[in-house]
Amino acid sequence: MIYQGSCHCKAVQFNVKTDLQNIKQCNCSICVRKSAKMSIIHKDDFQLTQGEKEISLYQFGTYNAKHFFCKICGIYTHHIRKSDPNGMGVNTGCLEEVNPFELKADILDNK
Ligand SMILES: [Zn+2]
Repeated sequence: MIYQGSCHCKAVQFNVKTDLQNIKQCNCSICVRKSAKMSIIHKDDFQLTQGEKEISLYQFGTYNAKHFFCKICGIYTHHIRKSDPNGMGVNTGCLEEVNPFELKADILDNK
């Protein structure tokens, strides 16, 4: 299924194809602060439709992962994974018609 996603202020918008089966919460130093439930997808299943200029990139540590967020409202929308450069995590809280509280997430141990 294709979901519409956006940051809080709607400057950043995207489509994502996911069956919402691979849901993770990661325990690394940045994810534990975000506490977002992420849908893990292939990067080809993500399409940014608006907000290329509003997206900001945050990197740290080994600089392999790319953490994207809206520079206006600060919301994390998606990231490119360290362990899998073709894989992406998308913030399920940003997806329309998805209630992240109903999703069961496995813990990704990245400590
Ligand atoms: Zn925003």
